[in-house]
Amino acid sequence: MLDVRDPSLQHVASHHSNKYYKAETDGGVRKFGVSDYIRLIRTIQPEIAVALADDLNTGDISEAWSKKSVTRSLKWLDECLVGYQSSSAIFGVLKGGPVLDQRQLSAELTAQRDVAGFVLNDLQFAGDATARRQWLQTSLAPLPSAKPRLAYALGTPLDVLEGVRQGIDLFDTLYPMDLVEKGHAMVFSFEKGAPAPATPQSLIIDISQPEFRTDRRPLDEQCPCQACIGHSRAYLHHLWHTSEMLVKVLLMVHNLHAYAAFFAQIRHSLRQGTFSAQADVFAQRYAHPR
Ligand SMILES: [Zn+2]
Repeated sequence: MLDVRDPSLQHVASHHSNKYYKAETDGGVRKFGVSDYIRLIRTIQPEIAVALADDLNTGDISEAWSKKSVTRSLKWLDECLVGYQSSSAIFGVLKGGPVLDQRQLSAELTAQRDVAGFVLNDLQFAGDATARRQWLQTSLAPLPSAKPRLAYALGTPLDVLEGVRQGIDLFDTLYPMDLVEKGHAMVFSFEKGAPAPATPQSLIIDISQPEFRTDRRPLDEQCPCQACIGHSRAYLHHLWHTSEMLVKVLLMVHNLHAYAAFFAQIRHSLRQGTFSAQADVFAQRYAHPR
């Protein structure tokens, strides 16, 4: 997937002009016009290309600013669609920020275009869970159900489940890697099972903690990944405190495996019609959403 904006960046450049998008790059802020971006798409030929849009870097914007962002994003989307013909699928970005009328208008007008899917990339600016749910619902309501919806910044298990509940199909997140940097391993499961216990469990274990110094068990006794076969929590604890690079490799292997299994379990529950009930039990079972 190609996007001029790095989905992992919390801070993004703003104050684009009608001619140029200002993109954060490793070499600093760089200006992109629509023709530059189309040339990039033709060169890279990604499966999915996210259209150029007037991205904001705050959720605190006026109605006039929101309107300008929606109008400019639609103009750039139209230019991307007209100027580009290839095998890549173009996704349109839904804008509007906190101005719900503009969010709805952006979704309605983007849905009228010949896009292959939709992107929500401003949810980190929603402030709290209630506002985020409102932003999601407003943007998603006008969209056709047959086209995929991709969200950035929804990565924790509870965020993902809420996103799925609201109708998000695709997620782009660094959540598993963020946990690795902190020495955390995922120990949650979405499989259908017993009711939630009286005392909530944790979603993760922190391998740096002294309680794991002599723990001979793997990170997750149910996990068949290469990190959990033949490596104990005590060994990873030792690697963490001796700053061995291997500890992050093993945590990465496990977290990516566990995260992929989580999504596979979600897809299975959707097919079985049990997603909603399982998501409720999951929220009761686990204490810490992050
Ligand atoms: Zn594992």
